[in-house]
Amino acid sequence: MTESQDPKTLWFNFLKIFTRALVQINLYTPDHPQVKQALIEGEALLVQISDSLDGADFSVTLDNDKLLINSTPLLASDKLPNSLRNLFLKSRIQTITFSKGVSGDDLLALCQIQAFKGEAKDLLAERGVTKITLSQAIYGKVDASQAQSEVSPAAGAQAAGRTGAGPGGTESDGNVADKISGQGLETALSTLVGRATKDTAEQQRIMEILTAKFREEMVVEVKKALEVVHREKKKVENDMVRADSVMNSMADGVVVVDKNGNILMMNPQAEAISGGVLAELSGKKIVDLSQIENQVVSLAKEIKSESNTDISTEISRAGSEELAKSVKNATAIIQNEDGKIVGTVSIPTDAAKLKQVQKMQEEFIATMTHELRSPLTSIKAALEIMSRDSAKENGPGHGVLNTAIRNTERLNSIITDILDFSKLQSGKLIFHPENTSAEDTAKEAAESMRAWTTSKGINLSVRCEPGVPFVYADRRRTVQVLINLISNAIKFTPQGGSIEVSADAGKDTLDGFVFFSVKDNGCGIKKEDQGKIFEKFVQVASGEKVGGTGLGLSITKAMVVMQGGRLTLESEPGRGTTFRVGMPVYRGQAEEGVFEQVTEARPEEKPWWKKLLGMQ
Ligand code: ADP
Repeated sequence: MTESQDPKTLWFNFLKIFTRALVQINLYTPDHPQVKQALIEGEALLVQISDSLDGADFSVTLDNDKLLINSTPLLASDKLPNSLRNLFLKSRIQTITFSKGVSGDDLLALCQIQAFKGEAKDLLAERGVTKITLSQAIYGKVDASQAQSEVSPAAGAQAAGRTGAGPGGTESDGNVADKISGQGLETALSTLVGRATKDTAEQQRIMEILTAKFREEMVVEVKKALEVVHREKKKVENDMVRADSVMNSMADGVVVVDKNGNILMMNPQAEAISGGVLAELSGKKIVDLSQIENQVVSLAKEIKSESNTDISTEISRAGSEELAKSVKNATAIIQNEDGKIVGTVSIPTDAAKLKQVQKMQEEFIATMTHELRSPLTSIKAALEIMSRDSAKENGPGHGVLNTAIRNTERLNSIITDILDFSKLQSGKLIFHPENTSAEDTAKEAAESMRAWTTSKGINLSVRCEPGVPFVYADRRRTVQVLINLISNAIKFTPQGGSIEVSADAGKDTLDGFVFFSVKDNGCGIKKEDQGKIFEKFVQVASGEKVGGTGLGLSITKAMVVMQGGRLTLESEPGRGTTFRVGMPVYRGQAEEGVFEQVTEARPEEKPWWKKLLGMQ
């Protein structure tokens, strides 16, 4: 380019190169060679334009319907490339003024206005651009006839609608703004169009064009907005499907409750544990708030208060250490946007694992005890044969063999205890209740223990009240109950002591029951230990060191309770102990049906949510 180049050609060239930069910045990064090249060329052209103007400012104005350079119309606005026109329209720029010394970086910032969300001026200020200024107030005075020949009426109307003032308007901008501010969109447009032209046919055409354009733009905007909504909807749906499949595929039961402890959601595992379906349980309380001893209640109470206190602390205060940890570790608090607690999700992971381990232990014990018992039975049989033979021959090993037999019997009873206990735990202990003679039961139990009492020098007697009723019980298991009690009595009664096994109707204590008693005059049990001894693995200190597992009484009590009976004890240290087993009286054929359902051992029923939390 030379000095003599026509200024308009320079302007056109600049607008061309600037438009190219605007397009390329949308496609490439600012340091792309194509972008850089366009900016360098733009900067060079601005230098030439500035020189041609003797250093004066160079302004590009988009008036209502035409582009002006330094107030001189250059071309109609609808002839402008879209990207250039959009730069003006989107940012509501009317004039861009280039002062002397505009850099390529300044031009880059100007190009980037197209994608900038905020105010165009702010972007330039942010980027330290001082040689380019934007204005919405400067536009040139146009000769009407010249403008008419160059600009299409449609573009003029569009511009009029945009700026709120058309060429040749008589009212001041303020008055027009006041006027249209209270009008609906269509009336406001009519007002503006009316100011653009007095020709009614032309006005009609402009309105049609404007309406069509509005519609087009509305469709585009609505489409864009809908796309966002659809995307969000899809995301939420995906999240829900994911959350659902996570909930459903979890091995643990999961229940979500609201801040009042009402059930909101539960997975199939939780439904299985609860024995109900979500549809029925939804909205119901997870707990009865009167039972204050458990974790869930304290959790529900805590969140009910809606305070932001430390929930974990509250939980650990309320329940067993192990369970507190389990619940605490797996409890998520649900808060709303304001941070208010609206519910909780509890996954008793550890408790579930604990149950799994317990189940494995039970299976292991059942298998092991079974495996131990078979060889033991053979050993005992062999010992008995050998003992008989050696008794005949009066051999020296007779006493040793008898000791060995007693030891196998002890081992056998320990294995029986463990086996029964594991069956009880897993609910596999089966009872076959029938019309059973209380007298025969007491006698059978006592007789089977006679050899032992004799060898220990204890006097064993049986006393049955005449006419004692029959009981409705599993005979074999009831004999086992009495044997357990008698064997304890033998263990804790010294030589020379006595044990009495009896059966009475117990009319003055409890109607409808027959009472079996096992009374000894042994060491007795201290008052403070009397409650503990029915717990599993509890052996309280007694003078004599005796064997056993500490399971005997817990099994005995379970066997009694599961048959609808009760087990009590009276004891005085140093004077002896009496265990009393109350079993229901047999009431005839009619009642058998009622009891049939109680034949299978079932762990004590707990609320389903206690099972869910492993609280059983
Ligand atoms: P084990 O199977 O080890 O005997 P039990 O559960 O049968 O365990 O008994 C628990 C504890 O109760 C015993 O260790 C003993 O201290 C006490 N006990 C049970 N029966 C008697 C009794 N007749 N006299 C004194 N103490 C007894």
